[in-house]
Amino acid sequence: MQRVAVLGATGSIGASALDVIARHPGRMRASVLAAGRKVGELVELCRVHQPEHAVIADPDGYADLRDGLRDAGLRTQAHAGGDALDALAANDACDSVVAAIVGAAGLSSTLAAARTGKRLLLANKESLVLAGELLMQAVHAGGAVIVPIDSEHNAVFQCLASGDDPPAVSRITLTASGGPFRGRCRAELEAITPDQAVAHPKWSMGPKISVDSATLMNKGLEVIEAHHLFGLPADRIRVLVHPQSLVHAIVDFVDGSSLAQLGLPDMRTALAVGLGWPCRIDSGVGALDLLAQGGTLQFEAPDLDAFPCLALAWRALEAGGTSPGVLNAANEEAVSAFLQGRIGFLSIPDTVAATLDAIPTRSADSLDALLEADAQARIVARSRIQQLGNRT
Ligand code: NAD
Ligand code: MG
Repeated sequence: MQRVAVLGATGSIGASALDVIARHPGRMRASVLAAGRKVGELVELCRVHQPEHAVIADPDGYADLRDGLRDAGLRTQAHAGGDALDALAANDACDSVVAAIVGAAGLSSTLAAARTGKRLLLANKESLVLAGELLMQAVHAGGAVIVPIDSEHNAVFQCLASGDDPPAVSRITLTASGGPFRGRCRAELEAITPDQAVAHPKWSMGPKISVDSATLMNKGLEVIEAHHLFGLPADRIRVLVHPQSLVHAIVDFVDGSSLAQLGLPDMRTALAVGLGWPCRIDSGVGALDLLAQGGTLQFEAPDLDAFPCLALAWRALEAGGTSPGVLNAANEEAVSAFLQGRIGFLSIPDTVAATLDAIPTRSADSLDALLEADAQARIVARSRIQQLGNRT
């Protein structure tokens, strides 16, 4: 019986993971459920999935969680705070960890799972962007098996499953839906509202990644993620806009072969790959019927003028060191301010660019150096956001 910790259980990936787990009661169960602040939703999930442990990251939520579990007549043990989260990801409460916390807040528990050799189903791309080298070192040192859950990287993982070494790969193509504003020029993006930005045409996701998809920063973070996961330099990772979102990635090999993975845009497929690996298990996602999907697959180059976030991510990857972490932190701050209506849509790339300009690249050889760069970037970004907010 595989015991699975779902970190970020109340989110969009968390819901998809729990859906797949519940389809295989004889094979796996959720043993740990963790969430940020939503105690009521977490208790409700515990009622359905009956884990041994529930963790609320916000320490103020402890009493409500404990009382809620008790009132529901559950035996689930209540925990609170980041240290409890890290301990449960690392100890024998679970064999596998679904890392589905949003943002850099997911780094610590992801590292804890990697160091202790868990099967790591990694959705939390920000932890790879911030600390890719350290995280991959921890995966190798701890003997963890990492299965990327981001659909494009999961697709590459599947294409590489035949045992090819990275040297046999000449290039990886990550596809992007183009988001809700594909085809618009920069001037047309000025007045975009948060509601418009989170309405993704193909995927149903949490608010932060939905905005990242609308700015194309999501694809930029994914290029950095691919660099760490598959050990390829930036110039061998390409992005193509593919509005149908059916081809998730293409891997070109040195012999001229290209393998692609296709499927309906539903994250349960990637989660089933991770939960069942190396077997394939039912995910609840139907088979792909290309004719029913319109019979056409289109590909086009991304528009870096209208969507400068993708170019900023490449710039940060090429600078290396702490720069991807600075990019990520500035983006998290800007997206949060945009979602709160404090700055406009185009102020997101503006804030990220200004923060990258202001903070010199340093070596990313320790977690402390990375966390310091993350904190410094948030201060610079908040001050830029304040300036931009005052202008609107
Ligand atoms: P979401 O906003 O729907 O859920 C986020 C989860 O993280 C929630 O359960 C929340 O309680 C938890 N959380 C937030 N802050 C926390 C903290 N400080 N400590 C502990 N838990 C905290 O987000 P999502 O769309 O499910 O995305 C989760 C991650 O997966 C992100 O990194 C995202 O980039 C990645 N991802 C998501 C999708 C998708 O389809 N949704 C696809 C690929 C990758
Ligand atoms: Mg993706």
